[in-house]
Amino acid sequence: MERILIVEDNKTLAKLIAKKLQTALPFEVDVVFNMAEAKLFLQRYTYFVTLLDINLPDAPNGEIIDYVLSKGQHVIVLSGNIDKNFRKKILQKNIIDYVNKSGIEDINYIIQSIQRLQNNKTHKILVVDDSVVVRKMMSTLLENLFFTVYTVAHGEEALGMLKTHPDISLMITDYNMPVMNGLELVKETRKIFSKNDLCIIAISVHDDEEMNALFLKQGANDFIKKPFSKEEFSCRINNSIEALENLHALTNYANRDYLTGLYNRRYFYEHMSEYMAEAKESAEHFTVAVVDIDYFKKINDSYGHDTGDKVIVNLADILRSNLKHNDIIARFGGEEFCLVFKNKNMSQTIPVVERLRAEVQNTNIKIDAHTTITISISIGLASHNSEDGLEESINQADMMLYKAKQEGRNRVVYE
Ligand code: GH3
Ligand code: MG
Ligand code: MG
Repeated sequence: MERILIVEDNKTLAKLIAKKLQTALPFEVDVVFNMAEAKLFLQRYTYFVTLLDINLPDAPNGEIIDYVLSKGQHVIVLSGNIDKNFRKKILQKNIIDYVNKSGIEDINYIIQSIQRLQNNKTHKILVVDDSVVVRKMMSTLLENLFFTVYTVAHGEEALGMLKTHPDISLMITDYNMPVMNGLELVKETRKIFSKNDLCIIAISVHDDEEMNALFLKQGANDFIKKPFSKEEFSCRINNSIEALENLHALTNYANRDYLTGLYNRRYFYEHMSEYMAEAKESAEHFTVAVVDIDYFKKINDSYGHDTGDKVIVNLADILRSNLKHNDIIARFGGEEFCLVFKNKNMSQTIPVVERLRAEVQNTNIKIDAHTTITISISIGLASHNSEDGLEESINQADMMLYKAKQEGRNRVVYE
């Protein structure tokens, strides 16, 4: 487990912060009360982040900050001192943040900041600027916030980078650049990546309000005016990343079934209409399977609805683990699922679903400390004809499922 170090001579406060952090976050927390002790711990451990008081008995003027930074560790400064000039001086150092420690809200802020840093680890940022100095300055700031950073010198390079790394979350772009300027870059980027895929922040060169408006109209999410403070920069980046995460959470919420996390019927049809257009063009085959649990009502009646839910989740996991990355599984309702095997014909699909059926039959589902149950599924299969609509293939698979039930269940039926 990763660790956090708190260096704070107010023992009550130090222990309170440690307790709150340990409750809210998955970290080991070490607490020390002076710089000498901190040195000993820093010899022994590497920290995810350190929280440093600037007024310690053996280091009264923030001496600890430079020491900890010299060890390559990440620093958040804790202070009761809100003198503007002093704050400014401290912020010039390569620290993550400078936070007050006067109340419980401050501790909550620290917890949120650490959670933010943890999430930042999963995000990639592209910096587009023709100045080496600016690129270096920004990547230092962003890497200190735990982002993965790529840098390029102009718009055309940026487009190339976005194509090879489509999982980049945020692009920060300058305006004045050779080959392709920032405005053109934003315009071109938005043709490929929507605001749902990528966040864009423009750095505006001068106090040109028209330029800022243009950036926003072309699809930038925000802009930062030069010169900017490190604090403003960090806040705007974090806000944009947070907005993107919220958007993703909402999309996920709308597209997925709550119980199993599989796609819902609505997303299934939306996705399939896009896929079928592509499949038609490239004459690609696919097959459709409709899966239904046998005698599911009996499980609900004998063990209760919660156990029924558990069984559904268990089946969803088995289905997911048997499908390829590109294939689609959706929960159509109750205990019925629809699967699409892309680029497969009937004879390629049969062994896959046979294996699936057998795995379900052989899986013991633990429903409490003393009881395990097994279930079986019936599967109807249909291969898609390029002249048919999707509905026809699903109906055909449904008919085969009905036949499977009639013939005794726990089987795969196709025509
Ligand atoms: P068959 O072998 O013919 O498929 O019989 P069955 O009992 O599985 O099918 P039936 O359609 O008669 O019953 C399905 C039951 O699934 C009825 C319904 O109460 C229950 N059900 C539907 N949705 C859920 C759910 O989300 N959770 C649980 N626990 N039960 C559900
Ligand atoms: Mg102190
Ligand atoms: Mg059933």
